[in-house]
Amino acid sequence: MTLVICPECKLPFSARGGFDTVCLPCYKQTRGYELTKADDAHIRLAVETKELQERMNTYTTDVAKLRAQVVELQAKLTQTPTTAQGVQTKGVLTEAFLKTLISLCHPDKHANNEKALEATKVLIALRGSR
Ligand SMILES: [Zn+2]
Repeated sequence: MTLVICPECKLPFSARGGFDTVCLPCYKQTRGYELTKADDAHIRLAVETKELQERMNTYTTDVAKLRAQVVELQAKLTQTPTTAQGVQTKGVLTEAFLKTLISLCHPDKHANNEKALEATKVLIALRGSR
């Protein structure tokens, strides 16, 4: 079913076989016929159809914007590694995960091991670079 816009009332209607040029209520009005309750129902449905089409267009636009945001965010997630004090990292480290890593490798927990100290410094630098 193809809907077209009535040039008289500007509401959508189904043009039978493509030869109707105006909607039935408008046709009847131009010919001087009295409108029936069915015509009133037709007009209400046409108004509702028009509103639904407008809402659908808005949602379609919103979906397109959201899809573009998803693509943009996915691109950010897969960006090349960042550098902090010469150490390459891949992916995304959340603040909470960084905090966990810092607590796990803190030199106090590793008898002031030099590598633990170095790793903690790097993780703290990573946290500070956000
Ligand atoms: Zn009409």
